[in-house]
Amino acid sequence: MRTEEIIARFERYVMNTYSRHPLVLVGGEGCWVKDIDGKKYLDFITGIAVTNLGHSHPAVLKAIEDQARTLIHVSNLFHIAPQVELAEILVKNSFADKVFFCNSGAEANEGAIKLARKWGGANGGRYRIVSALGSFHGRTLGALSATGQKKYQKGFKPLTGGFKFVPYGKIEPLRSVLDDSKVCAVIIEPIQGENGVVMPPEDYLPEVREICTQRNVLLILDEIQVGLGRTGRLFAYEHYGIEPDIMTLAKALGGGIPTGAVLARDDVAMYLTPGTHGSTLGGNPLAMNSGCAVLKTILGNGLLDNADAMGRYFLGRLRTLAERYKLIKEVRGKGLILGIELKRKDIGKGIIKRCLEKGVLLNLTEERIIRILPPLIVTKGEIDFATEKLDESFKEAS
Ligand SMILES: *Cc1c(COP(=O)(O)O)cnc(C)c1O
Repeated sequence: MRTEEIIARFERYVMNTYSRHPLVLVGGEGCWVKDIDGKKYLDFITGIAVTNLGHSHPAVLKAIEDQARTLIHVSNLFHIAPQVELAEILVKNSFADKVFFCNSGAEANEGAIKLARKWGGANGGRYRIVSALGSFHGRTLGALSATGQKKYQKGFKPLTGGFKFVPYGKIEPLRSVLDDSKVCAVIIEPIQGENGVVMPPEDYLPEVREICTQRNVLLILDEIQVGLGRTGRLFAYEHYGIEPDIMTLAKALGGGIPTGAVLARDDVAMYLTPGTHGSTLGGNPLAMNSGCAVLKTILGNGLLDNADAMGRYFLGRLRTLAERYKLIKEVRGKGLILGIELKRKDIGKGIIKRCLEKGVLLNLTEERIIRILPPLIVTKGEIDFATEKLDESFKEAS
């Protein structure tokens, strides 16, 4: 009853930008969430790769509670102690020398685009940015212009100029587009998340890195979805023995408090000088203290190893499903970003609905890829539970 009432009020008062599940979630602990009627669900959506430590993690709760009692917000016109602490942790554990903080993924990519343009302007008057088809970089106009999917751009033109697109995972088209002397940067996701957990060939990122270096073009890695432990390393680029020039983070960074970040080496970061970029709420004490707890917990509690081991275990379990059910075209993933690609578009929604009714929350992208994003704290028991419910759902749909 209460669920229906809330849904009705949603339709009345909230803009209809999402097709929402008919559930009202009111509580969460660890890998589980609870709806308003008290029913529990295994949360393998994690707010789309946000709650990497699960719900109500004690370290995150403490950081938010302590900081909320002390100081929630002051302007970046002052030095913010938890901000420098989080910046230092990020710098010491990545390729970067400097960090800029903002509030979302789209805002982080906007910052990266602006930084690349500022650098390009000073390095040969260059401004064009190359992105991949199938990519997703956010909903604001600049990030949307960098997004290589027509369905997200439809109806919002004119977009920002200066973007060029190449097929994802293919090196030759990128090589030729870089003949354009106005290109200053390439922006790429190490794995395309929204596009359905699309993984490039293993040698793709090293080759992209090499070409960018040869042509003196910046490599921007969008690790908003795959960063912060999701692939079993703190950052996905670590799998490939390369480093970007700029990297964007968001989603999991603030432990659920809206947070984004742009990371860069000093020789690039130096182009953003006082007054050239900013964000009122970006880097505020509450978000930063929560972010510090997230990073310390991921790094200090063996969660990268757990993500790697559980990811391998889960992929193995999914492979047995793929052998059994003809509806499955392929299973793939790295660490705890996993995808089940279906052969047909018309069965995806039904599988997701069945899993939800059985108590497992999963996400569908591109109508036929089941995207699975468990928290990094997940256990074998929970993976077995999800596999069992998927198994039942595929059996019923076959
Ligand atoms: C989610 C996502 C974004 C956008 O982040 P928002 O916080 O929704 O603006 C950008 N890039 C990638 C790779 C993402 O997964």
